[in-house]
Amino acid sequence: MEKLTFDLPIRTFGGSAGGPSAVITGGVHGDEQTGIHTAMLVCERLAQANVLGRVTVLPFSNPEASRVRRRQAPQDGLDLNRTFPGRPDGSYSEQLAWHIWQLTDGYDYLLDLHCCSLYGSTYGMGFYSRHPWAEELLSALMLDTVVHTKGTRGQLYIEAAERRGQKGVLIELPGGQPGGVIDVPAAEKCADGVMNYLVHIGAVQGQEKAWDKTAFCSTLIDCGTAECDGLFKPAVPAGSAVDKGAVLGWIDGKPMTAPCDAVATMVSPMRYAFKGMNLFNLTERRKVQPGEIPCPEAK
Ligand SMILES: [Zn+2]
Repeated sequence: MEKLTFDLPIRTFGGSAGGPSAVITGGVHGDEQTGIHTAMLVCERLAQANVLGRVTVLPFSNPEASRVRRRQAPQDGLDLNRTFPGRPDGSYSEQLAWHIWQLTDGYDYLLDLHCCSLYGSTYGMGFYSRHPWAEELLSALMLDTVVHTKGTRGQLYIEAAERRGQKGVLIELPGGQPGGVIDVPAAEKCADGVMNYLVHIGAVQGQEKAWDKTAFCSTLIDCGTAECDGLFKPAVPAGSAVDKGAVLGWIDGKPMTAPCDAVATMVSPMRYAFKGMNLFNLTERRKVQPGEIPCPEAK
C-alpha cells in the first residue's frame, strides 16, 4: 500500500536534558473519549506545572476513528491496539501504529488511556506480576483497582514494555462505548492521578500524595452472563468490592452472585436482558504471583 502521512495533535512539555520522560496516549480506540478528555485535562495541568523532564501527550491517537466515534478507523476496520508495533508499508491502521510507535520511542514511561464502557468503572491494567515497576506506577496513579493483563500482544503498552523496555501501563475509564460518551468526574479524578504519577517518576515538580488503597487483582473472570431472559436489576454499582457469594443483581427474580472475592468492574443498569447477555464483569481480588501468567508470544 502507498505510504501515508499522519498529522496527529501532539503536545510536549518541558524537555530539559537529563530528566525522566513520559508519553501519554489517548483515543487509540476512537470512541473512548473519557481517555481523550483525561489527556486534554493533563495538558491543561502540565501547562501550569514545572516540568522537570519531558512529557508528551497524544490525546487523539486515532483521529479518523474519533471523527466517526468508533473503536476502529473506517479505512480498514483494524483494532489499532492489537496492531503495534505496526508496519511502515501496511494498511491504514498498521501504518498509523508504526507512526505512533516512532513518536513514542525513546520515552522512559508510557501511559495509555482507554474506556471500558458507560457502565464500567476506572481501573488500571499492567503486567504487574512480570514487571515489578508496574505495581509502583499503578499505585502512584491513585487507582482503587488494578486488573492483571492477559498480556494480549499488539497492545501499545505491552509491546512498549516487551520490545523496548519502556515502563508501560494502561488505564480503563468509564464512558466511551457507546457513542463516545465522556464521564467528566472520572476524567478529572484520573487527571489528578496522572499528575501524581508524573510527580512520582520525577517528571513534574511537586509533593507526591501517598496512596496505599489500590486492590491488585487477577485478570477479568469469564462470568456475569444472563442464564435466562428477564428483567435484570443490579444490586451494586460498578467499582464495588464484593465478597464471595454476594448478590450482584437479579435476573428474572433470581440472584446472580460473586463466585469469589472480587471487584465488579462493570455492572449493567436495570434493563430487560436476554440469555447470553453480559451483565457484569468481575476481577478476582487476589494478587497474581510472579510467573503465574506467562507472556504470550508476539504475533
Ligand atoms: Zn480501548
